[in-house]
Amino acid sequence: MSPVSVKVLIIGSGPAGYTAAIYSARAMLDPVLLSGEQPGGQLSTTTEVENYPGFPDTIQGPWLMEQMRDQAVRHGTKVVTEHAVEVHFTHSRPCVAKVVTNTGVTYEAESLIIATGAQARWLGIPSETKFRGFGVSACSTCDGFFFREKDVLVIGGGNSAVEEALYLTKYANKVTLVHRRDQLRAEKVLQSRLFDNPKIQVIWNSKLEEVLGTENPTNVTGALLRDTKSNEVTEVSTDGIFISIGHDPSTSIFGEQLKVTPTGYIWTEPNSTVTSIPGVFAAGDVTDDRFRQAVTAAGLGCMAAIEAEHYLASM
Ligand code: NAP
Repeated sequence: MSPVSVKVLIIGSGPAGYTAAIYSARAMLDPVLLSGEQPGGQLSTTTEVENYPGFPDTIQGPWLMEQMRDQAVRHGTKVVTEHAVEVHFTHSRPCVAKVVTNTGVTYEAESLIIATGAQARWLGIPSETKFRGFGVSACSTCDGFFFREKDVLVIGGGNSAVEEALYLTKYANKVTLVHRRDQLRAEKVLQSRLFDNPKIQVIWNSKLEEVLGTENPTNVTGALLRDTKSNEVTEVSTDGIFISIGHDPSTSIFGEQLKVTPTGYIWTEPNSTVTSIPGVFAAGDVTDDRFRQAVTAAGLGCMAAIEAEHYLASM
């Protein structure tokens, strides 16, 4: 298969990727967007979105991503349902990166916009891995349905954990949020919804120590929680555990080729999407460990497209 030459190749289909695509397409750069393994990114597994400007009523995350995709396609983006498996940076022009996808196609890109986002973080304890998919999950919209009339725990104290807890009350009898401190990180508006919900209880200053369950069939039956102040371990019974402790940037396919920040996010020049390699730009959650909002990701996608356009014009 001969390589496919593209002026702008975009990896990732969250708000950053699609916005970069809309701007590059309107700049007549014929972008190709690899939509990846989870098309639509994190918003495709979020339910309600209330803070994306322009939509006074609550909208659904997957719907918003469909609108962005349609807009990118309408302006001339080629969206392909492939994901990048190998990336080689050439450090030369015009082709700055060779990107091989899971279908064996090689793209030779004159500029590359990395918008691979971030993925759910796990605690890394063996019992969590053992019961993953059997009562342990990181996605309430994917798995909440299986917990009708059941009791569940949600681990974490950020916006995601609180949203997951609220969402799970649609199905579960009782939702218990377990947080390692005595204060939530989540926005105040979400906190008040959480505290007002009679189905939700909070266990403060506690960490998930171990997931308890049966072998045949594999099912979660409880958890050991360690009090972070007294160090005491308590057993609680539960039918499911949702881990919602943040995200890690999706950078593994780039290996050590790009400069990263101390927390592993792709480094960019201040107020810019320019990475350590000329012609390669990064936008969205893969580079932003601070704001991580759909709207900031979209803004960074716009910046990346404009910077890629300037880079190509300077050839
Ligand atoms: P986050 O804000 O980083 O919060 C992660 C939470 O997990 C924190 O409460 C943290 O505790 C806890 N945690 C981390 N590691 C842990 C561990 N090993 N054991 C126990 N607890 C642990 O992550 P997020 O909630 O996924 O949100 C990510 C970003 O997306 C944020 O910027 C958030 O605002 C944004 N977001 C926005 C919305 C919205 O606007 N509607 C919805 C979802 C997410 P500590 O507090 O003690 O550090």
